[in-house]
Amino acid sequence: MPLAVYVHPLKEELLSSWVMRTCHANATSLYSLLWHFKLNNQAQVDIDQTQSPEFLRWLATTLNHPDGFTGAKAMSLLPIQEITTLFPHKSWIRGIDRRAFKWRSFRFCPQCLQEAPQPYFKRLWRVEWYEVCPKHHLAMYNGCPRCSKPIVLHRISWEKPHVAHCYNCKSDLSSFPPQTVPINTNTHAAIEGLCALISNRSQEDYAAIHFLEALLEQGRRLKGVSSPIESLKNVGINNSAEYAENFPASFLATAAYELWHLDGDSLNKFILENQGWFNLAARDYSCPNVFKHFHRVWFKAHELNEDTMNQIAKEIRDAGVEATPGRIARKIGCNIRRVEKFLTKKHQQ
Ligand SMILES: [Zn+2]
Ligand SMILES: [Zn+2]
Repeated sequence: MPLAVYVHPLKEELLSSWVMRTCHANATSLYSLLWHFKLNNQAQVDIDQTQSPEFLRWLATTLNHPDGFTGAKAMSLLPIQEITTLFPHKSWIRGIDRRAFKWRSFRFCPQCLQEAPQPYFKRLWRVEWYEVCPKHHLAMYNGCPRCSKPIVLHRISWEKPHVAHCYNCKSDLSSFPPQTVPINTNTHAAIEGLCALISNRSQEDYAAIHFLEALLEQGRRLKGVSSPIESLKNVGINNSAEYAENFPASFLATAAYELWHLDGDSLNKFILENQGWFNLAARDYSCPNVFKHFHRVWFKAHELNEDTMNQIAKEIRDAGVEATPGRIARKIGCNIRRVEKFLTKKHQQ
């Protein structure tokens, strides 16, 4: 059975947004459409991350994508997943955790929704760090501003004039006021750079930036949000505390992007000054090749520092066990004798 109405995909549109607009135009729900074609088993799947090429091909044909399978795939999140192969430990895709029901919740920029001939959702809006709209320099909304429920596209009734509504309180999402973000021109450029990195599929840049992000995250974890801000300032990267606090994923990604684009000497200086963070990041994630030499430096010469030691000991105690040198060493990923030596020296002081 062919559909009554076909909908043309819009610029930078997300696959599931196009699918939902098609359902909407045909006065049907996603579930009814899938049920009609005996594809009920796909109803619980995140369309944008489908692992079934057959399903993607079916969508492209049935919904009549002008560029067929390739076009439909380019609208999905699969190309973004493909650049993560060199650093697979963390995804840039938002809400991959299905248990928390985050995986189908969307964010939006009200201005982008308003300007479109028909409101639709863009592909990069599902990227984790995308908390600021690079087109309008406005904060994205992560859920419904009125009732705080997540935005779930497939639950929006087709009786609404368009798909950008809250399924719960029925608000029109394009009607919410814009919220400005306290960031500078360098940060705007970094956001644009990150978007370009995704469209160029730069795997190595992705791995490096993601590792630097993990490193900054350790600094924040150990000493609070202002600590990476101070260290970044020393190498000429300026961010406001307000930005770092309210847009944590965006702050980490843009700062990491700026670090990665510093000259080599400044980047070395930053890492050497924050070797404790570096080592903790290398413990949690594998270290990309480009930073491997720092790893060796650390294991040979770096002194254990007190902040790292206290934080690790605290994490072990919080888990309900005694913070013995053996457990600390295992967690840091270094030799037990170094930890013992550090503790003895501290004891003697
Ligand atoms: Zn926008
Ligand atoms: Zn609502």
